[in-house]
Amino acid sequence: MYKLIKLSLLIIIALPTFAQTAFNANGRFEQLESTLPTPNSYRTASGSPGKDYWQQRADYDIKVELDDINKKITGTETITYFNNSPDELPYLWIQLDQNLFEKNAARKTAATGEIKNGISAATFKELTDPKEYGYKITAVKDIKGNPLRHTINQTMMRIDLPTLVKSGGSVSFNIDWNYLITEYYGRSGYEFFAKDGNANYFIAHWFPRMAVYNDVYGWQHKQFMGQGEFTLNFGNYKVAITAPNDIVVGAGGELLNPNQVMSATQLKRWEKAKTATRPVEIVTQAEAEAAEKGKPTGKKTWIFKADNVRDFAFTASRKFIWDALQVEVEGKKVWAMSYYSKEGNPLWGKYSTMVVAHTLRSYSKRTVAYPYPVAISCHATLGGGMEYPMISFNGGRPEADGTYTENVKNGMIGVIIHEVGHNFFPMIINSDERQWSWMDEGLNTFCQYLAEQEWDRNFPARRGEPQNIVPYMRLDSKNQVPIMANSENIMDFGNNAYAKPATALNILRETVMGRELFDYAFKEYARRWAFKQPYPADFFRTLEDASGVDLDWFWRGWFYGTEPVNQSIETVEWFGVDTMDPVAKKATERATADAKRQTMSNIRNKTDIKSTVVEENPDLTDFYNTYDRFATTDAEKKKYQEYLSGLSEDERKLVAEGKNFYVVNFKNKGGLPMPVIVKLSYDDGTDEVLRFPAEVWRLNDVQAKKIIPTSKKVVKWTLDPFYEIADIDTDDNSYPREPAQPTRVQLFKAQPRSYGGGQNPMQEAQNAKKSGAVTGSKN
Ligand SMILES: [Zn+2]
Repeated sequence: MYKLIKLSLLIIIALPTFAQTAFNANGRFEQLESTLPTPNSYRTASGSPGKDYWQQRADYDIKVELDDINKKITGTETITYFNNSPDELPYLWIQLDQNLFEKNAARKTAATGEIKNGISAATFKELTDPKEYGYKITAVKDIKGNPLRHTINQTMMRIDLPTLVKSGGSVSFNIDWNYLITEYYGRSGYEFFAKDGNANYFIAHWFPRMAVYNDVYGWQHKQFMGQGEFTLNFGNYKVAITAPNDIVVGAGGELLNPNQVMSATQLKRWEKAKTATRPVEIVTQAEAEAAEKGKPTGKKTWIFKADNVRDFAFTASRKFIWDALQVEVEGKKVWAMSYYSKEGNPLWGKYSTMVVAHTLRSYSKRTVAYPYPVAISCHATLGGGMEYPMISFNGGRPEADGTYTENVKNGMIGVIIHEVGHNFFPMIINSDERQWSWMDEGLNTFCQYLAEQEWDRNFPARRGEPQNIVPYMRLDSKNQVPIMANSENIMDFGNNAYAKPATALNILRETVMGRELFDYAFKEYARRWAFKQPYPADFFRTLEDASGVDLDWFWRGWFYGTEPVNQSIETVEWFGVDTMDPVAKKATERATADAKRQTMSNIRNKTDIKSTVVEENPDLTDFYNTYDRFATTDAEKKKYQEYLSGLSEDERKLVAEGKNFYVVNFKNKGGLPMPVIVKLSYDDGTDEVLRFPAEVWRLNDVQAKKIIPTSKKVVKWTLDPFYEIADIDTDDNSYPREPAQPTRVQLFKAQPRSYGGGQNPMQEAQNAKKSGAVTGSKN
């Protein structure tokens, strides 16, 4: 539709850029003050730790033995707990995470009892395993050896103290324990290799640990149910790990006695690794394979220390290949290392340590410089990964013939970036994982996405790109919970705690704030909360505080809500400036009148009526038979001259330019307000992208009309041309609408070949090579 509008310059200039056609009462842009906790002297309104911020500290001195025959851990520890709170504490709470595997553990009451459609091998094994898992606490004593009263409540234990721990005071006590190691369950355990009779151990949440006491919850002792991870204190660790002497031990700390546990050859390789640019094998594959076949001749004790960490985990196996290199991170040398059995090669030797090194650099740049001396990636069983300070257990295993699918390779690289990345969130920026999964998983997945793109421009990142979250955002809102949901209440964990927050942050960076403002504010959050315990409000407030961007609407929509983004272009009206030139005006009127006379009757009458009465009798014509009502009169010409002379030079130019004015009617169908990004394709083949902030929806959250002036004629309008807002329905994003695409049906029942999922073209190529056929691989 095209209309001419009269030039009334003052009115055009004064028109608001966004015309609000209705005023909907809506809270989408209300500030979050009533939702966020009241700021105080511990946590400020700007999102930083306050002047009275405090946190507890727990130091550990642990001696532990790994029993490879019985798959058992036996340990003794001294915990020194520093009460930095303003409160006196009559008792302490200890976390007993291994009790997750007790027969009557709380998580089992949460599991559904549906088995009529079958039962998985893992569930069957768990239900019928006669072993008694969980902690056997054999002693809880004060430092003088007197027993301390203690009460176990599933995965938590309360120790009653004979005297209060005063504010500013500390208390030391001992705990002795043992437990049977479970098979690897995704966070810890062992993987047994029947072929050679050996196990790879991934030992985590293996010692009784202090629960957190803080200004937000008091004691944060929500039970460990398996999904919600850990809430932990910082402290210094000294850990002595005794194992059979043919077993290689790696841990999240600095090895204090290399001369006692490493051979002269290994020490020499260790030296070489300090200046290498590719990983150096400290233990080679040949040595690991020889060890697989051997037997231990005694025991060895590996001693580690780790300062200012929130946890401690280790790995052990006689099957391990161990490689290392030193990488420079923000001016400091850090050991990047990997432990993997031969089952991980060739992938692990080639990629793991290189990916560790890259991750440390990428994350340090965006957050804080990596503060620890080592960072380790271990090859656990297929898929997934799990993080601890300085050490992570990661999946990704090739076939026995050494080939692997593209998914296995990229999955492994992605998971190593992710788990090593967890060193920053939550190991350094120590969020409360048991309560808020997104604060570590979401922030980490966002940084992972960025690191993946820096690793390989074509990396097929699963999470981060707005269009990848669309299937989740399309779900009915009753099948979703907000990102701001307790860890144990989250449905669709991967999308809710990882993908959605990561995508939201990517959108904040690219579309809402811009890279410069976002990167500064994100880094400021990391800097403020490094080695401290942030909560959601601290993150929300800091990002606003450091950027000067009002983001309350964004947190509301993306973090507190479940509505999707769905914008559309409903209508476009087209206006041209009326030049007031009577000649042009009459010509247009004539063309319109001529066109309107082309009716069906008139078309047929041209031939059907051979001649009319007036045609046959010219004397029946008069003035009006020749009168041209579209001719310009002298009076009209004069009036036009008067109009022009009344305009200024600038105004005359504007009239002559013949500008187009488009009134574009955008609709917010999804609810979640987002910036409006629209591409204008012009009739000369060029285009232009206009961006309007989300505030266009501030007063009317359903409809926003925009007046867009252009010199050229727009032939097509496209909303969200770069797929940056996660719009769940793009069919209504163009104007005029795109013609419908046919749904293709297959005529014959042929299975198309694709290499998306589990197929392995590397293996096919290898087999083809053996048989002398031509392969499809690129040169
Ligand atoms: Zn994670």
